[in-house]
Amino acid sequence: MERLVHLVDGELSDFQASRWLAIEDPATGAQVAQLPQASYTLVNKAVQSAKAAFPGWSSRSAEQRAVVLRRLADLIDSHADTLARYESLDTGKPLQLARRVDIPRAAQNFRFFADAITQVASESHQTSAEVINYTVRAPLGVVACISPWNLPLYLLTWKIAPALAIGNCVVAKPSEVTPLTATYLARLCAQAGLPPGVLNVLHGPGDPVGAALCEHPDIQAISFTGGTATGAQVASAAAKQFKKVSLELGGKNPAVVFADCDLPKTVSALVRACFANQGQICLCPSRLLIEKGVYQAFKEMFVAQVQALRVGDPQTQVDLGAVVSGVHQQRILAFVTQARESGGRLLAGGNAVRVAGRCERGYFVAPTVIEGLSGDDPVNQTEIFGPVVTMMPFDTEAEAVSLANASRYGLASTIWTGQLSRAHRVAQRLETGIVWVNCWMLRDLRTPFGGMKASGVGREGGQEVLRFFTEPKNVCIHFGDADI
Ligand code: NDP
Repeated sequence: MERLVHLVDGELSDFQASRWLAIEDPATGAQVAQLPQASYTLVNKAVQSAKAAFPGWSSRSAEQRAVVLRRLADLIDSHADTLARYESLDTGKPLQLARRVDIPRAAQNFRFFADAITQVASESHQTSAEVINYTVRAPLGVVACISPWNLPLYLLTWKIAPALAIGNCVVAKPSEVTPLTATYLARLCAQAGLPPGVLNVLHGPGDPVGAALCEHPDIQAISFTGGTATGAQVASAAAKQFKKVSLELGGKNPAVVFADCDLPKTVSALVRACFANQGQICLCPSRLLIEKGVYQAFKEMFVAQVQALRVGDPQTQVDLGAVVSGVHQQRILAFVTQARESGGRLLAGGNAVRVAGRCERGYFVAPTVIEGLSGDDPVNQTEIFGPVVTMMPFDTEAEAVSLANASRYGLASTIWTGQLSRAHRVAQRLETGIVWVNCWMLRDLRTPFGGMKASGVGREGGQEVLRFFTEPKNVCIHFGDADI
């Protein structure tokens, strides 16, 4: 049984942990590792080591920092098979998905921000013939990066890459549910030439370990991705000390399907989008709004394709693996029961799936499609974060927009139409931070990423995140002879 380690001040150790947590493979239910829980003393040691490393790291040139981050990206690439295996083992996701998406994207995150910091331009404003302002953006110091279990390495690196690139030192806390690849990444840091203390990785539950980080007076900013309720706790801890916060939270994402779309392409794209990673991506559409004229045709094609999805052992060629835990499986199935009780009709799935052989104790859920619920039904209002979608018909564009916006969340939406003017018009009206038209999860890492309303505060990606991880300081110079 593997015993995992923290990374603190360049040292990989359990630091004589007095508490250990069991890490389970959700596809088999077997325990695969033991996780040391960081104490308050260790949290403080990590923060102090990051603080000590900050002057050296932040005073390196952008190009020098970029060299180290590119090496880390290369190391992720050369260890991609092992990392993918760990990611699949930890989350239950199909191995081929981890190998194709999660791990390459983690390397890309480091490479993208290594390049980005060598391209950052500074600003100056000439106020008059004798006055000029220039703005410097200095790294903040020590920042906390807290990430969830659904895309463990992908989302962790999406935070730490820009934070480190721009010159901060980081204390990262991956989810206690999925710590394997973060630990592996920690092992690669020394090989990449990252000085001790620049990146620290601490393990343990959100409360107390994540909470202790949020409350630590030497943490200048918190970049958090996770659920909306947790985000509120993080925000209130940060507010007391006026820390900067970036919150990437939950979603209940609408897909708006107009009758003039390319129906076969739309259906196939939405089947992939709704059930990717077992529906456990914050961006997965979960409310399908379909124009009445094509509702029946959409339904038949969609349900047929959903029923053909293969659920099973993540190490084989499947479309869906296990959901992340037994608790999460039960939570998802409880929503199906609730939907039935509210008069929802089950068109596909709705049940746990038993996978024979080595996965017979795993936590699998059949991809599920429900119709007949109103827009304000709790099942349409709560984030399920699993392979469950609802279908609702609409008559007019205005009704579609109103149904789509009738949610406390505002993360991502998709519009499916053949009409360019409608695509633009509806995109302007949807209350989500991200809108995809005739596509889903087509990512350009330069674009702002994040949500409105209860889906978050702030944006990640490109220049937005580099600004988040820096403090702007304006310097105004009067260089004329005139009296001032
Ligand atoms: P949680 O909110 O439960 O946890 C997220 C992270 O926060 C974990 O590392 C967790 O630790 C930690 N944490 C928990 N409590 C605290 C606390 N009091 N203080 C500081 N940190 C804490 O989310 P999940 O891991 O369950 O992830 C699923 C959620 O993440 C969904 O709502 C999903 O929509 C959202 N998400 C949003 C994305 C976005 O970009 N908007 C992207 C991906 C997911 P631990 O798990 O160890 O307890």
